[in-house]
Amino acid sequence: MKALVYTQPNEMQILDRPYPSLDSNEVVLKIESVGICGSDMHAFHGHDPRRNPGIVLGHEFAGIVAESSAPLFSLGQRVTGNPLITCGHCEYCLQGRNNLCANRTMVGMTRPGAFAEYMSIPASSLIAIPEELSLDAAALTEPAATAVHAINLSMRVLVRPIQECRVLILGGGAIGMLSALLLKHYGVDDLTVAEVNPLRRKAIEEHVSCKTLNPTEEKVSDSSYEFVMDCVGAVVTRNSALAAIKPGGVIMHVGLQDWSSEIDMRKLTLAEITLLGTYTYSTVDLQATVNLLARNAFGDLSWVEKRSLDEGPQAFMDLHAGKIAAAKVLLKPF
Ligand SMILES: [Zn+2]
Ligand SMILES: [Zn+2]
Repeated sequence: MKALVYTQPNEMQILDRPYPSLDSNEVVLKIESVGICGSDMHAFHGHDPRRNPGIVLGHEFAGIVAESSAPLFSLGQRVTGNPLITCGHCEYCLQGRNNLCANRTMVGMTRPGAFAEYMSIPASSLIAIPEELSLDAAALTEPAATAVHAINLSMRVLVRPIQECRVLILGGGAIGMLSALLLKHYGVDDLTVAEVNPLRRKAIEEHVSCKTLNPTEEKVSDSSYEFVMDCVGAVVTRNSALAAIKPGGVIMHVGLQDWSSEIDMRKLTLAEITLLGTYTYSTVDLQATVNLLARNAFGDLSWVEKRSLDEGPQAFMDLHAGKIAAAKVLLKPF
């Protein structure tokens, strides 16, 4: 079968790979649509020690069950799934917080991913999708669930309803874009997205109907937002988030470009700022996201770009060069 393989830093190739074997309680999926994630780009750049050359990346998938050894899933069923393979037994899995599973592995990292015609996956990771949801929209479940999970964690901590908040999102990539769309759906009116790429700013203005700003030209105003989402996680955005947050506000740290930096602990302390971290989504978040997508909570998704799997190597190059306005590119193997 055909697969898009990460062969060496800054190189992806279409290669022939063996059709996956069917293990017990697993299914083989015919991949219909698969998104390119920022973490795939990170691996492509040679920056992820867990994703080495030779690997098939891709974990934002939707497809059709082609073979099944699991009683709950039958041939022809349309599904997406949790790329995190979790144990089901540890304290986090038992709490329903399986994103923190102590024994987790991952599709496109510890086992072959979805940039291929077919992929095997444990049936316990699968989520059936409703009739009215297209497979292309379903392939956005994973990044959209990252936004759902992060915003849900934040809403539990904000002292006032999120609709009342002035909200700033740093970074207009897929997670920033999907977070902005979800916040609009939730009824947030005062929303600004800071993004350096002019193509992306234009796409956000067109599809989200919120304010944008270019942080390299325009200074984000100090202490004026009740809720800030940092969807970049670089040293500079962390500092901007802390400068922009109002006393008593909540910062949700979503992106993780730089692993550490010095932060203004004086403001954090004296202004009672809550700084939250978030990692991916639980299976329940993914299920909730499938329902939100089916109800068009993220809009018509017309900003998403689709290409064939064969065009995958070029898509990685174009994303690398910042030439793509779309915050999400889907690859289609068939
Ligand atoms: Zn992803
Ligand atoms: Zn577990």
